[in-house]
Amino acid sequence: MNELERQLDYPFGEALPERGSAIDVAPGVQWVRMGLPFALDHINLWLLRDEQDDDGVLRQGWTIVDSGIDDPGTRAAWENVFATRLGGLPVLRVIVTHMHPDHIGCAHWLCERWNVRLWISATDFNVARLASSASAGFGGPLSAAFMALHGMAADPDAVHKVGARSNYYKSLVPALPLSYRRLLDGGTVAIGSGAGRSEWTCHAGYGHAPEHMALHNPAQGVLISGDMVLPRISTNVSVIDIEPEADSLKLYLDSIERMRSIPADALVLPSHGRPFKGLHTRIDQLQAHHAARFVDVLEALAEKGPQSAFELVPVIFKRPLDLHQMTFAMGESIAHAHALWFAGKLERRLEGGVFRFATAPA
Ligand SMILES: [Zn+2]
Repeated sequence: MNELERQLDYPFGEALPERGSAIDVAPGVQWVRMGLPFALDHINLWLLRDEQDDDGVLRQGWTIVDSGIDDPGTRAAWENVFATRLGGLPVLRVIVTHMHPDHIGCAHWLCERWNVRLWISATDFNVARLASSASAGFGGPLSAAFMALHGMAADPDAVHKVGARSNYYKSLVPALPLSYRRLLDGGTVAIGSGAGRSEWTCHAGYGHAPEHMALHNPAQGVLISGDMVLPRISTNVSVIDIEPEADSLKLYLDSIERMRSIPADALVLPSHGRPFKGLHTRIDQLQAHHAARFVDVLEALAEKGPQSAFELVPVIFKRPLDLHQMTFAMGESIAHAHALWFAGKLERRLEGGVFRFATAPA
């Protein structure tokens, strides 16, 4: 545990749910953990005790929040959870916080398996539909051209490898439900059974995904934070080819600032890492982390003159990166440069077919 983590409170200590099992974290709330084939090797998913009025018939069951990726291991682990953790009751709906493959990949299977509806923001549903369709042109050559323009041209081999990696999203999210129910910022979703039923409020967050929804239950003091606030790692915030002038990091920082409206003592259920208390402390830490990176970027530019986002990657990430990590790091580097650029602290120039950022004259 690092020094920053020690400022947070982990009410369940070192406990982690075993594969295909769960841990109770609040009344009617269970913590499920699934494996991922990435450097980030796990995702947390949530089971909420629920009931549903089926056209006049009240059915008892469960709501699932987030799905895991779609692979045989995840499906098998879900079957184990269904057999051992639902008390013989069915799944009534699937809520997904955002469109990333580890959150939505298995949703189509869950919705078909139980014949239930997917609940998600309209933006993320539609972007996920596009990204999982082979014809949409996500990733691959467009991504390579964008990264070359931001300085990766200096490493033609890396550009080539980025260009060769198309249909990545579709490989992890092979299908999506054809219909959905829309989650809206500030809207509420009633979840729970009998006297345990209460309202969860949707908090839209930007900068990580198109329109991420965190869910807060004031009555229970529980926040499902998704990827917007994680206890150990900082949330990936990238600029990508689809929206080349995005100011993603400002959107992200503004979004977590708005989450201070949620009480500091809420039990935070994050998608990665362990449930914790200390939401406002963690928001402070994340804001300080990015403020320090802004200082690093400004100092590097003052020292070395104009730099591309590619040249700024080692300023922001002080460890060696493989290609997969490099594509994320490029997106994050551009996001830091853009936040300073849109704030008027940097200028952007096109030099020899490459964007370089320079300190703006005072
Ligand atoms: Zn995500």
